[in-house]
Amino acid sequence: MSITVVGSVAYDSIETPAGRRERCLGGAATYFSLAASFFTDVRVIAVVGEDFGPEQESVFQARNIDTQGIERAPGKSFFWEGSYLENLNEAKTHNTELNVFAAFEPKIPVSYRDSEFLFLANIDPVLQRRVRDAMPGVKLVAGDTMNYWIKDHRPALLEVLKGLDILLINDTEARMLAGNNNLVRAARAVMAMGPQSLVIKHGEYGASLFQSATGNGAASKTFKAPALPLDEVVDPTGAGDSFAGGFFGYLASQPELTPGAFRRAMFYGSTMGSFAVERFGTERLQQLSRNEIEERFNAFRELTHLD
Ligand code: AMP
Repeated sequence: MSITVVGSVAYDSIETPAGRRERCLGGAATYFSLAASFFTDVRVIAVVGEDFGPEQESVFQARNIDTQGIERAPGKSFFWEGSYLENLNEAKTHNTELNVFAAFEPKIPVSYRDSEFLFLANIDPVLQRRVRDAMPGVKLVAGDTMNYWIKDHRPALLEVLKGLDILLINDTEARMLAGNNNLVRAARAVMAMGPQSLVIKHGEYGASLFQSATGNGAASKTFKAPALPLDEVVDPTGAGDSFAGGFFGYLASQPELTPGAFRRAMFYGSTMGSFAVERFGTERLQQLSRNEIEERFNAFRELTHLD
């Protein structure tokens, strides 16, 4: 099984209570693909500028991530600057420069066309939609977005939501998208926009899975996964995308999408999110092993097991 992902590949300047880093490799598609690559084959669609070199490319190659669909364009890569000085659960954006993404026309390599899973990571919803439309044969489509697009690009985003099976967003975004502060009502309103499954991430408090009632009379369902209590959160950047990579990567590795597979996927999502925040940028994901993932998954099990 393989996942094709479209989203930002970027340089990030980040400030957290643990310090500051300038222009480290980031982007939603970067974190997503690193996390998902521990579970399944990953193929990336994105655009980078002339400032993206062999050192950055090698981060993807070391995890066997297919980068044929990462186009190089004249100009600078996407750049994001943010901080978490007041609240570790929510980034404060200081600067967003789309750069080469502003004129990006996604082209899907022929070798990507047999992907059964598609992830629309955080980027302009117009681009998400184009990639979705160009891959009509996929079995499962999941996606992410953020306040930036919810506030100022709502009509385009609503079009994307219609074509999603699963949406992953954080609780502030869910409330903003639905225009409702009650999370259960917000979840219902968001699912009415398209996705049958909705994952709402609560930062250090874990994540909730909402699934709408099926046509054959089954009731709607809710499931909750905790986050691992950590001694120190060094850099929350990429936690959401790494959650998505663990969640969707695990689903793509499963022979059947049973309710149990969705529940375990929530725990693998939390597992990958918990690693991402231990160091700045993608550092921790780059040095991770599958054994460490299993150990932490089991720690999550123990955290919540009753008997
Ligand atoms: P998160 O997992 O939510 O912490 O996402 C962090 C990543 O999102 C960073 O590496 C940024 O490069 C990327 N990012 C920030 N703003 C945007 C945006 N408007 N569109 C796409 N990606 C973004």
